[in-house]
Amino acid sequence: MSRTVYVNGEYLAEEDAKISIFDRGFLMADGVYEVTSILGGKMIDFTGHMKRLARSLDELDMAPAATDDEIEAIHRELIRANDLVEGLVYLQVTRGAADRSFLFPDGVKSSLVMFTQTMNLTEAPAAETGIKIISMPDIRWGRRDIKTIQLLAPSLGKVAAKAAGVDDAWLVEDGCVTEGTSNNAYIVKGGKIITRDLSHDILSGITRASVLRFAREMQMEVVERPFTIAEAQEADEAFVTSATTFVTPVVEIDGQALGDAAPGPIARRLREIYIEESLKTGI
Ligand code: PMP
Repeated sequence: MSRTVYVNGEYLAEEDAKISIFDRGFLMADGVYEVTSILGGKMIDFTGHMKRLARSLDELDMAPAATDDEIEAIHRELIRANDLVEGLVYLQVTRGAADRSFLFPDGVKSSLVMFTQTMNLTEAPAAETGIKIISMPDIRWGRRDIKTIQLLAPSLGKVAAKAAGVDDAWLVEDGCVTEGTSNNAYIVKGGKIITRDLSHDILSGITRASVLRFAREMQMEVVERPFTIAEAQEADEAFVTSATTFVTPVVEIDGQALGDAAPGPIARRLREIYIEESLKTGI
């Protein structure tokens, strides 16, 4: 069945939704996005996603396409129209359509596109088995804190991981892991949760913020610092976080099994608590 999607003020059947070929998102990846997970028909960590969207837009001097209240209402209408119970809402703002030029055009209205995807988030097989990852050089640009739609580098990373017979890749720069292709990366050693500190080098994950808050509330020790692949291979556990994968255990890094190659207790506990709390606090 065709989905109802949102394009610049209109709700349309997906096959009728159109964007200009001059849209700067299409021509120059001049746009930003957010992905909000939906559990039980409710939006998870919505305020965090709206705050990060505002920051991404601000960093690129791009005008917001709608107010937060309007965006929330569009989320709700898409969830309703598509009977979405579990999955995601994707939102993309681009600088809009103008004759091709490297300079930002004047007086152009930002473009806003949103759509839903049904996905099984809570019962994901990867949460049970854990995932295997390989490492590779981080070839992305230097402002990974801005959630831009230029996703070719992470896409190449996922393709290479698949070709290597594993599930995902961790990206390495100057000897240390930055993050996963589409998630934040963590290791656990001696009960300590270690994850890279926030900077321009990584995306400030909304799931990361919630998971670290829950970990601290449970008196777990969190250390925010870079780590190497060698250190990760010696860790007791590893895991990744993102809006659509929540907390997903990593059980193998570059062919080296972690512990007994099964999801560790801390990753399992954090996943449980994240889902439990999200179901309570979703709006
Ligand atoms: N890092 C990168 C590079 C990502 O693409 C994502 C997911 N969009 C994340 C981290 C996780 O962010 P979030 O928890 O907000 O989904």
